[in-house]
Amino acid sequence: MSDSLQEFKARFAMISRLGQAAGLLGWDQQTYMPSGAAMARAEQMAALGQMLHEIGTSDETGNLLTAAEAAIAGQPEDSDDVRMVRVARREFDKATKLPVALVTEIARHTAIGQDVWARARHANDFAMFAPVLEKMFDLVRQSAECLGYKDHIYDALIENFEPGTTAADVATMFAELKPDLVALTQAIAQSKRPVDDRVLHGDFPTEQQKALTLSVVAAIGYDLTRGRQDIAEHPFCANFSRDDVRITTRFDPKFLNQALYASMHEAGHAMYEQGSPAAYEGTTLSGGASLGVHESQSRLWENLVGRSRAFCHWVYPQLKSQFPDALAHSDAEAFYRAVNKVTPSLIRVEADEVTYNLHTLLRFELECDLLTGTLAVTDLPDAWNARMEAYLGVTPPTNADGVLQDVHWSCGLIGYFPTYSIGNLLSAQLWESATAALPSLNTQIEHGEFDPLLGWLRTNVHAYGSKYLPKELVLKATGKPLSARAYMDYLTAKYTDIYSL
Ligand code: ZN
Repeated sequence: MSDSLQEFKARFAMISRLGQAAGLLGWDQQTYMPSGAAMARAEQMAALGQMLHEIGTSDETGNLLTAAEAAIAGQPEDSDDVRMVRVARREFDKATKLPVALVTEIARHTAIGQDVWARARHANDFAMFAPVLEKMFDLVRQSAECLGYKDHIYDALIENFEPGTTAADVATMFAELKPDLVALTQAIAQSKRPVDDRVLHGDFPTEQQKALTLSVVAAIGYDLTRGRQDIAEHPFCANFSRDDVRITTRFDPKFLNQALYASMHEAGHAMYEQGSPAAYEGTTLSGGASLGVHESQSRLWENLVGRSRAFCHWVYPQLKSQFPDALAHSDAEAFYRAVNKVTPSLIRVEADEVTYNLHTLLRFELECDLLTGTLAVTDLPDAWNARMEAYLGVTPPTNADGVLQDVHWSCGLIGYFPTYSIGNLLSAQLWESATAALPSLNTQIEHGEFDPLLGWLRTNVHAYGSKYLPKELVLKATGKPLSARAYMDYLTAKYTDIYSL
């Protein structure tokens, strides 16, 4: 290997490891840190963040990158080195295009924004949040102009989360989904065979839930020698190398669903990180390809596996032995129906598989309108409520249950929501390909054999780390571009059966 390529790799390995150390501070903050340490921790994280930014955007790093580009000239397009340098260039350009003053201003406004958002939500007071939100959209608009885009300002923003994807791609995705989803939601609402989910509500002591979720995530393939599960207010997955990938969950002693499915979801993210090739460790190719591809892994395990009839029949005897009293009068089939209940609801994070994407569609449309100035921030609550009524048939009684429900906009995460839907669509498309390659997949799941599926994902998705752009990866793994077809086929077949449509 040429000296310049080696120096480039050493520099990016250091950046990657500093980022992992910063991540560990963040994980600790959300799990075990005493509340009194908040100020000290904020300063530690800010110091590391500044250091990372300075090293990542320094002339020295830029020169190493340029030298590495010269060193790989003529190498095959698909080689790891070429891709590694390309990802580094993408990140470097993005970081250096933004003026330091703007980055600092966004960071400061994010801290303010989150605080005001939390108080405004608590007080159900959109007027309190409006000026902060207006300024955030303004700052984000400025950052999009600095980053540059071809067709739509949204392109510059979604690029941060889903490289290579544009607003037009997202608009096409939702145009494909919207009519079918609205129609399916309405058909389910009129079904003569409603779902009873009382089985999920009862006494489910936290200790037993903890034991059960741990044994389930271990069974599906989450390696607990390179991971662990802790409790946090919001379930998440955090990784500090492929050999230290941690998940969190939360338990509701009166409701079984939350911890079980949140654990499977986070384990899906975690298994993706654990499957990142050892050779990519400390390089720009480690970890997942994008937020959307990441979400495809979590959704696949949570929904395509976890909410399948086969899985429910496998897991139910274990549930029954942990919770014999609460489940005394139920069975696996009732459990399967209960975990697939569809109810148009106000809150995105509680939404079922059918209605979930209508929540993200609404946010995408509003973000575009706010960015282009078609919609004023002061008119946002009305626009929100009108779309909720049109797509889901429900109107939020308060802004806290409506426009104020998500944290994302308060911290500048604009262009983020579509990645949830990309993940949903891709989970079904991957499932279709996996099923074609593994004809006995359902029987395997019914018997608790998850290795074949995980092996397929390892080979076709995880093994590539972030080497390919999401569009390239989808083509490689499934043989076709991402579309809504597999997802709609999956939903239609499943819910036609459950609701006797
Ligand atoms: Zn997720």
